[in-house]
Amino acid sequence: MSATIFSKIIAREIPADIVFEDEVCLAFRDIAPKAPVHVLLIPRQPLAKLGDASAGDQAMLGHLLVKAGEIARQQGCGDAFRVVINSGAGAGQEVFHLHLHILGGRDLGWPPG
Ligand code: AMP
Repeated sequence: MSATIFSKIIAREIPADIVFEDEVCLAFRDIAPKAPVHVLLIPRQPLAKLGDASAGDQAMLGHLLVKAGEIARQQGCGDAFRVVINSGAGAGQEVFHLHLHILGGRDLGWPPG
């Protein structure tokens, strides 16, 4: 996988407003937030998109989902938040390093666009 802006954030080559990190993942505020809480959660291990995941990624993906809930609560979303993963350019993915959008802090309409 080629380097992306998110690998540069992991390597601390460019700044980010980091709200959580552990040995598996890193979470930072989206630079163009779509809600009062808009955090991106990424794995340190590079995977371009969810559609490329395989059985060997199960533990990492489960870890990300558990941490997404913890981060949403820590950011003040209570029990109402949304996790979005855009997989592929046709779904709106712009950065090809897997990331979970954690959105909250306002009413979230359904269906999304
Ligand atoms: P996606 O369209 O799902 O690939 O989402 C990419 C997200 O990354 C967008 O919401 C951007 O606003 C966000 N983004 C791009 N560059 C940065 C950056 N340097 N720091 C934080 N968020 C970023």
